[in-house]
Amino acid sequence: MADCLFCKIVAGELAATIVAESELALAFADINPATPGHTLVIPRAHAQDVQDVTASDLRATTELAQQVARAAFERLGADGVNLLNSSGALAGQTVFHFHIHVIPRYDGDSMRPSWVPSPGDPDQIAAAAAALRGA
Ligand code: AMP
Ligand code: ZN
Repeated sequence: MADCLFCKIVAGELAATIVAESELALAFADINPATPGHTLVIPRAHAQDVQDVTASDLRATTELAQQVARAAFERLGADGVNLLNSSGALAGQTVFHFHIHVIPRYDGDSMRPSWVPSPGDPDQIAAAAAALRGA
């Protein structure tokens, strides 16, 4: 994809701070880190979002994200890690090349949960689940 920032990073046309790599996936530092060590993990092949990434690229990206997450625990002393994907502009996606954020968590960091859990309406829960099942 000619205009894709992350394809340019894969091609070596745009600088990035590489964290880890594999045959099908690449991990590099986010330039606007939520916490120290915030890393983006992408498939080398362009996919827009969770809907169109291939199963093998999703697997490779997830496996590399796990490797980075383990390194965050073991080498950065993180107390936790969030894995995050935003698919679609409404969900907060700003770069339309599929990516998983690996966000190391530390006691007292500035990350906050993105929703406040509260009990849902049982009928709505059941209806949404049925729709997702295709029932
Ligand atoms: P999202 O908003 O989920 O699409 O995430 C896109 C992320 O890409 C943001 O956290 C940006 O800070 C990050 N980002 C944008 N451009 C670059 C770049 N050239 N190198 C590294 N990270 C980037
Ligand atoms: Zn791309």
